[in-house]
Amino acid sequence: MDFDAIVVGSGISGGWVAKELCERGLKTLVLERGRDVQHRVDYLDFAPPWELPHRGMVPETEKAQHYAIQSTSYAFNSASSQWFVRDSEHPYSTPMDRPFSWIRGYQLGGRSITWGRQTYRMSDFDFKANRLDGHGIDWPIRYEDIQPWYDRVERFAGISGSNEGLEQLPDGQFLPPLALNCVELAFKQKTEADHPTRRVTVARCAHLTEPTPEHIALGRGPCQLRNVCERGCGYGAYFSSLSATLPAARKTNKLTVITDAIVERLDYDHAKRRVSGVRTIDANTKQGRSYQARVVFVCASTVATAQILLASKSEYFPHGLANRSDALGRHLMDHVVGIGASGTHPGFLDRYYYGRRPTGFYVPRYINITENADVDFVRGFGFQGYSSRSSWQRGEHEAGVGAELKQRLREPGRWEMSLVGFGEMLPRADNRVTLDEKRRDQWGIPLVHIDCTHAENERRLAERASQDAVRMLIAAGFENVTPLGAIRPPGSSVHEMGTARMGRDPATSVLNGHNQAHDISNLFVTDGSCMTSTGTVNPSLTYMALSARAAHRAADLLASGEI
Ligand SMILES: Cc1cc2nc3c(=O)[nH]c(=O)nc-3n(C[C@H](O)[C@H](O)[C@H](O)COP(=O)(O)OP(=O)(O)OC[C@H]3O[C@@H](n4cnc5c(N)ncnc54)[C@H](O)[C@@H]3O)c2cc1C
Ligand code: SF4
Repeated sequence: MDFDAIVVGSGISGGWVAKELCERGLKTLVLERGRDVQHRVDYLDFAPPWELPHRGMVPETEKAQHYAIQSTSYAFNSASSQWFVRDSEHPYSTPMDRPFSWIRGYQLGGRSITWGRQTYRMSDFDFKANRLDGHGIDWPIRYEDIQPWYDRVERFAGISGSNEGLEQLPDGQFLPPLALNCVELAFKQKTEADHPTRRVTVARCAHLTEPTPEHIALGRGPCQLRNVCERGCGYGAYFSSLSATLPAARKTNKLTVITDAIVERLDYDHAKRRVSGVRTIDANTKQGRSYQARVVFVCASTVATAQILLASKSEYFPHGLANRSDALGRHLMDHVVGIGASGTHPGFLDRYYYGRRPTGFYVPRYINITENADVDFVRGFGFQGYSSRSSWQRGEHEAGVGAELKQRLREPGRWEMSLVGFGEMLPRADNRVTLDEKRRDQWGIPLVHIDCTHAENERRLAERASQDAVRMLIAAGFENVTPLGAIRPPGSSVHEMGTARMGRDPATSVLNGHNQAHDISNLFVTDGSCMTSTGTVNPSLTYMALSARAAHRAADLLASGEI
């Protein structure tokens, strides 16, 4: 086989790289460790609750035995468990007192099937933060470098949302927004009146509220507001690799996908200073194989990418491929979650809603942007929120059977609202991924060891986020307001980032400003490992934009013969 490019991983970032490279006319091979998935055919989105195993729930014994970590995800249920790895079959280690929740999906499409579809742009508050407060190294890019690529990926993916004119949450190329419900509108009015620099806006999300001809040509249809998205969507109404990027790549006839191909390591040719091959192990037969191409993109997701590059040691790179800086595997970050508050509202009992809106509202960051007084930490947090009527929201999970249950569900219950904080985590060299050479998985690959903790800045930020959430809910007339609890272990927000960070200086970073390895010109990395800081917004839209940008950079360099 003869390829121009190899892409490792078919999730959000790998899907984008494959699409852009194929559309540039490059013969592209995607190597995916998980199984093949047929869009629509393999989803359970049309199964009613009573046809699902355990009515959508997973028995506690099965969770404990196989999904101890994965089942902590809100999206894990008996209709979506097929998109989560079995922890029992894919072990990793952490220090006893420092857990890390590594939530994974090994299949074609990766976690683009289960993701929450929240899509926000980072701003120059994020790209300049490290330089200004001295935590971490400076990003090699600014908002203006990525802005046209945000435009490009938003148009293609289909993002619904509303433009708000906020510097910290740049506007975009949006499809019509979904609507706030009556309680959210009242919360918005009260919060914005009390705090003129805070904004409550409908969430921006990767759902087709009004598909364009480009979306329709790929077989995608409008969102039906069913809110069973984590099962996979037969309408292709939310963005995933399976509904969008891989079908677009296939249309070019330049794409080859090989599933069940676990990338074990990359080979390096020192004479040419290039990656010379990608070695795989067949997940089923355990047979080894090697593939070659002119350029290689590693998009296996933050921790897995670090694993592959660390395992690709050689005489010339004894500490991992492209790792002269010793930054590889370090600076692991994740958004701080488990913070915020919830409450119930005594009013609006004559108001209802129609359908199951698959998203909520958003309160963008204000701390250390427009509100700086009495702040004893750097960076900030945003809130994602949702409100609904209690027994309708719990719906099929409400205990009971038969006529008595039906009767009870006629009463929608009081309005409930949650404000769920997402806080920035600072980059620290000791938060890192290493390989445990003594312990191997069933394919003989060294296990990943993850050592990652929160520090004082995250704790202070979390405390403030919960306090602010409590105050905003009480001010808006909510009762029974309670903080959500304690900070959850790193990894819990599933926004892991930073293990092969971008930077200007090859001595302190793995990648340059185009996601190209400083040390090896035909090696690119475009998943969350490239991130130099986390910002406060959900990161996948940024991975998409950086992936598209890097793919075009590689195509240009290949065309000019520079790589
Ligand atoms: C429940 C949930 C909700 C989320 N909500 C949001 C949200 O609202 N907004 C947001 O921005 N993000 C969200 N995320 C995070 C989002 O899913 C990830 O940021 C995104 O999928 C990362 O893209 P990726 O391409 O780096 O990795 P993935 O999508 O995980 O894809 C990586 C792929 O690489 C493959 N792979 C791994 N190792 C190897 C190997 N050795 N060889 C070959 N292939 C390999 C995997 O099988 C996988 O298919 C959520 C995630 C979850 C699980
Ligand atoms: S809510 Fe929309 S995107 Fe989600 S499963 Fe239903 S139709 Fe698909």
